[in-house]
Amino acid sequence: MILIKYVLNNDFEYDIQGLIRSFFPEEETVTNKLENEARLILECGFNYENLHMVLKENGNVIDEKKSSCAYDGNGEYDRKETKNILKRDLYDILSKYTNKTLLWGTLSGIRPTKITTNLLENNLSEEEVIDYVKKNYYISEKKAKIATEISKREIKIFNSFDYKNEYSLYIGIPFCPSTCLYCSFTSYSITAFKDKVDDYLNALVLELKAVAEKRKGKKLSSVYIGGGTPTSITDKQLDFLLTNIEELFDLSNVKEFCVESGRPDSITMEKLIVMKNHGVSRISINPQTLKDETLKIIGRRHTVEDFYNAFEMARKAGFNNINTDFILGLPNENSEDVRNNMEKLLELKPESLTIHSLALKRAARLNMFKGDYAHLSFDNSDEIMDITHEYAGKMGLYPYYLYRQKNMKGNLENTGFAKDGMEGIYNMLIMEEKHDIIACGAGASTKLVKYTDDGMETQIKRIENVKNVDVYIDRIDEMIDRKGII
Ligand code: SF4
Repeated sequence: MILIKYVLNNDFEYDIQGLIRSFFPEEETVTNKLENEARLILECGFNYENLHMVLKENGNVIDEKKSSCAYDGNGEYDRKETKNILKRDLYDILSKYTNKTLLWGTLSGIRPTKITTNLLENNLSEEEVIDYVKKNYYISEKKAKIATEISKREIKIFNSFDYKNEYSLYIGIPFCPSTCLYCSFTSYSITAFKDKVDDYLNALVLELKAVAEKRKGKKLSSVYIGGGTPTSITDKQLDFLLTNIEELFDLSNVKEFCVESGRPDSITMEKLIVMKNHGVSRISINPQTLKDETLKIIGRRHTVEDFYNAFEMARKAGFNNINTDFILGLPNENSEDVRNNMEKLLELKPESLTIHSLALKRAARLNMFKGDYAHLSFDNSDEIMDITHEYAGKMGLYPYYLYRQKNMKGNLENTGFAKDGMEGIYNMLIMEEKHDIIACGAGASTKLVKYTDDGMETQIKRIENVKNVDVYIDRIDEMIDRKGII
């Protein structure tokens, strides 16, 4: 157990805890226990002038670091830079103590490429960006290069459209055929909720109508239907939703209309035809693994065969932009399983591939009932991640977006790979927080990005919808009112 003691104030609590968890993923961190109960004690002193970190083991000081806080040119306290100093100090102490380095250095945020993109946009060369993030965030050369490469591609793609003056639409369908072991999204069993879907869609259309009215005259650049599993509703219900979207919004500027079909067991030819007829340009069919034993363990209730069938059907229906999601670090899977998965995928030639590292979120069954799954092994590493890069290369796919989550197995990242010109635009936009994403449906979160006249991004405002489907239906007027400012 590691005890964190905040001396004077705890302004950087979140960052300190995040970094400690990265060095000690299996160890409990506490802030309110007696000193003699803890194996290690970290004292964090901070008074807006100085930083003082002390690491103690068995009551003895084994390392400490003192630094001054950062101030800007006007003598004002600079919180962001002070946080970076504190994290570097903490990293130095913990790295020396554990003899470990972290591939992503001091970064605990979920969007490393936002940093590299900003630096490139401020005219730093590729080498300068890599150098900067290595020095300031202790990011490894390898990850610094990947992040910079992705940023360069993003900038090239974003330059081709006026994203600052456009917006994207996200629509959430929070139903799934069953709940995956690791799921922490807003998702309800379609079997238990099938009688509520029509009411849900009617409420959703009311919200979409209000958004269409508010955003009249503004260009819509991408539409993303996610969830849950949007294809868990019937083909008629899907048709109803897509018809309404077509009638309400001008889709003539839409560069990508994506439906996260997700679960192979929810896909039928009828649904694929409905999507095709309504102009859906990209779909995602997600096996997560091509090993049946694992699919059973994680509660997906579909087989590898179901995935192959769904993929083949989608090709027959005319989809030429299909993404497939895989997860690394699934129970009892090792590097050989990942290699087998990728080898099998080679033959299907998807246009894009998204590799996630398993993240143990608080609300997931896997986390809440940890004891029940103690017999399972979870294996993820940078070497395993390398296998996916190797095979993505063989498939002609290159990395185009990347993000991290808290509590990821191996403290790694999620990476999207795509063929040139087949990148998931919405994925990039949501990660870089570059333009407004208006989100409708239960659990949907709208993000509004403000720019100054000279094009500088100033702040991001979020508007959340309630997560519960019944409450969403009952309080749809309030959800619409909340969007008054869009
Ligand atoms: S398919 Fe996705 S949203 Fe549905 S239960 Fe599984 S992880 Fe959750």
